[in-house]
Amino acid sequence: MFNLILFGPPGSGKGTQSDKLVAQYGLIHLSTGNLLREEIANQTALGLEAKKLMDNGQLVPDAVVVGMIGSALKANPQAKGFLFDGFPRTVAQAEALDNLLSEVGEEISIVLALEVNEEELVKRMLLRGQSSGRPDDKDENVIRARFVEYQNKTAPVAGHYEQSGKVKHVKGEGSIDDIFRSLVREIEAKQSV
Ligand code: AMP
Repeated sequence: MFNLILFGPPGSGKGTQSDKLVAQYGLIHLSTGNLLREEIANQTALGLEAKKLMDNGQLVPDAVVVGMIGSALKANPQAKGFLFDGFPRTVAQAEALDNLLSEVGEEISIVLALEVNEEELVKRMLLRGQSSGRPDDKDENVIRARFVEYQNKTAPVAGHYEQSGKVKHVKGEGSIDDIFRSLVREIEAKQSV
């Protein structure tokens, strides 16, 4: 299996690049944000609880997203690999993911970390808020709260994988196609090892 984490702050282009990477490599796309929004759309108890946190820019509890990822892994035993988008967002989630994968003899192959400066991120997200229908993209205070969560809880996840030399930093500014080519270059370099 080829298991890829697409890592980066909110608005760094993870969703856009995930769609392109999944099309190119036939991986299964696991976005915890999308899974949570499905729960909200279906008005499940989990979705209604998660919505309160999401609307304030806060992370939902680790157990909730780890449970979702565990189910998705079990549901796809024949997968060529997975692309994790927006997960793991805490070191505890990363440890849980490592354990889930090792139970089936697998591991993370590469962590691609998109780098974009914060002012550019806020601009992109406010723009996205005009069309995405996401309440958490519409309010600059909520966007800033998401960055604070990212800095405090998510940024350390890169350190977790840095120890094993799996993290590749990629500039997330420029055209969508140029960024995609940079990501592909890192994947090809890894696969030919
Ligand atoms: P995203 O679509 O990845 O930007 O996620 C939107 C929101 O869903 C986040 O701001 C969090 O509130 C929640 N969320 C998504 N993924 C996770 C995760 N792995 N851990 C905790 N909360 C998450």
